Amino acid sequence: MALHRRNILTAGAGLGAALMAGTAPLLGSVGAAQAAAPLAGTPTPATFRFKVGTIEVTALHDGIGSRPLDASFVRNADLKDVQAVLAENFLPTDTLNISFTTLLVNTGSKLVLIDTGFNDNGGPTNGRTVAQLKSLGIEPSQIDVVLLSHFHGDHLQGARAKDGKLVYPNAEIMAPENEWGFWMDDARMAAAPDAMKGAFAGVHRVLKPNANDVKRFKWGQEVVTGITAVDASGHTPGHTAFAISSGGKTLMYVADITNTPILFARNPEWRVMFDMDADKAVATRKRILDMAATDKIQLSFYHANFPSTGFIAKEGSGYRLVPMAWTGVL
Ligand SMILES: [Zn+2]
Repeated sequence: MALHRRNILTAGAGLGAALMAGTAPLLGSVGAAQAAAPLAGTPTPATFRFKVGTIEVTALHDGIGSRPLDASFVRNADLKDVQAVLAENFLPTDTLNISFTTLLVNTGSKLVLIDTGFNDNGGPTNGRTVAQLKSLGIEPSQIDVVLLSHFHGDHLQGARAKDGKLVYPNAEIMAPENEWGFWMDDARMAAAPDAMKGAFAGVHRVLKPNANDVKRFKWGQEVVTGITAVDASGHTPGHTAFAISSGGKTLMYVADITNTPILFARNPEWRVMFDMDADKAVATRKRILDMAATDKIQLSFYHANFPSTGFIAKEGSGYRLVPMAWTGVL
């Protein structure tokens, strides 16, 4: 039976008939009085754990950021074309809810947090990475390494709380050398256009106080056993992906090679307003998505919908993220 609107509206009659015929025994208590449970009004913990060889990876939902959608978001597409893709995906066409997913990697000897979210430097709908860790029984003091993909605020601000304290007090902070060179340069900060000054100041707030303790790495380097830094520049000058490998399996954390893949995997030529070198970002996006599609490599994004991980299928002139099947077993 096709469930046309007409059928849904008259389904009650069918249910009654099933009950009378004794074919719906589980529904026997329909209509019985039930005790009201209070509404929770809070989200459930949002974590998702999977394995890469012997390495355990846990996606942590830092939250979302909402912004009105206007023509400036995708610089080289008509707003109506962007809205059409959103509508096809049953998403609002006037607002973007951009998701943030940090990644906890347990290599067996180290607990590594890749990117940090906002902590208390964002808004009411984000900054939940620590709460997600605690829901897993992990205290921030247990994190050994904070690994940064790049220095945009949504990835970095959560390393230091608003009161100036390090959120992960025992962790070594590791950052891409090329990112450090760009953002920590005082002369470049002074010469930056006003619109960029806040971004520089945010980076300096987090990294300056412990600048001597931040370990800088180069692309191609194995930064932690099993985790190798990969050049994914374009989005920012030092934007870095991480190949997490164990037992012949690889997961690639690709950070912001796309903003939401719904728009930018599907249309890799589209230029999101946050890509600092748009030509290079497009080339990087295509290179990594094509590699993932060809070699069937699992990717974890920062801005895909939670749990933000899956495989890449070629589709038309672009790509599609096929989310990893959710299971509750490892
Ligand atoms: Zn980002």
